[in-house]
Amino acid sequence: MSPRNILVINCGSSSIKFALVAEGCSRFALSGIAERLGSPEAVLRVREYGSEECLPMPRASHAQALARLLPLARLAAGGELHGVGHRVVHGGEHFTRACRIDAQVVGTIRATIGLAPLHNPGALAGIEAVLELFPALPQVAVFDTAFHQTLPEHAYRYALPDALYREHGIRRYGFHGTSHRCVSQRAAALCELPIEDSCWLSAHLGNGSSTCAIRDGRSRDTSMGLTPLEGLAMGTRSGDVDPNLHLHLARTLDWSMERIERLLNHESGLLGLSGLSNDMRTLEQARAEGHPGATLAIEVFCYRLAKSLAAMSCALPRIDGLIFTGGIGENSPLVRSLTVAHLRVLGFALDEQANESRGKGLGRAIQAAGSPRVLVVPTAEEEMIALDTLALLG
Ligand code: ADP
Repeated sequence: MSPRNILVINCGSSSIKFALVAEGCSRFALSGIAERLGSPEAVLRVREYGSEECLPMPRASHAQALARLLPLARLAAGGELHGVGHRVVHGGEHFTRACRIDAQVVGTIRATIGLAPLHNPGALAGIEAVLELFPALPQVAVFDTAFHQTLPEHAYRYALPDALYREHGIRRYGFHGTSHRCVSQRAAALCELPIEDSCWLSAHLGNGSSTCAIRDGRSRDTSMGLTPLEGLAMGTRSGDVDPNLHLHLARTLDWSMERIERLLNHESGLLGLSGLSNDMRTLEQARAEGHPGATLAIEVFCYRLAKSLAAMSCALPRIDGLIFTGGIGENSPLVRSLTVAHLRVLGFALDEQANESRGKGLGRAIQAAGSPRVLVVPTAEEEMIALDTLALLG
């Protein structure tokens, strides 16, 4: 039987990232992004066999971009597309695993928009556009939150009146679940440990960042909460602040809710602290040239990451390894080194030479002798979404 082809789609509010995944193949036949959707600069960038084509689509909507993309994907798939796997950020408490998309699932995702107003409308636009263009093409939704539905109640509840949870769903949900699931499975395979009897601390560090404690293949705690703002300092997100900050800014500076939302989501984190950039590569270079803001931003990022990992260790009976993943986790020896230096109390230490060495593949160990494992494991969210989709196609 020839390999089946799944188009993996990640719809944001104004972008669609995509990858065409062939069953059993880790290289994408086609990938790219449609960005600035809705604006005059909207563009579809398609990478195929190493070359990139840039197709301007002024003011294109999600549906129009998908109408252009789907035939290209079908062509690249040799004429047959077997399904579409959608990354959906928020599944609330409704979805504990991936599921085939039907009218009921669309309705439930729509009902969850209140919990993820910045993220779920994009995913819905993508799902509905595919439904309209290719009604017979099977679609699967893979939720960022689903992996964390195994959190125990003491980990997912806020210390708030019960009614806010019971009547309004206010609780910690967690995100990046597909990535934490992927790298914990890969780490277990790498170390030849059964996933169902293994304990991992995982740090997914990209523009958004989160930590996770994974016991026996199940998420037991994670740093993001009701929304992806809670927890670590991120590219432009503040992560944890004193909850009274909102009141303080409103009272003392007369700031509106929208102004505060923009501050915490788009002007804070590495960008806010450094006054320079949200991009770790830029900050590392500036730090090397003595930029004080970049130096501070990286120090805060690593210290708070270490603090979060130490907190996550409370959810585990033992630690089989600490996993670094995501653009920063996979590529920044500096961040790994500064972070692990704060975790000596848990026995962690790095082999700095191994930490500095570059290498691709399933993953590699970088701990010093006598330390619990520290692993650099590339995440593969698109492949996980494609695998989940294939599993549901039967
Ligand atoms: P996203 O969350 O958007 O998927 P990524 O996982 O691609 O983001 O991570 C993006 C981050 O990874 C950026 O801050 C980028 O600077 C950082 N990064 C990528 N390569 C390197 C590198 N070689 N050294 C340090 N940071 C890197």
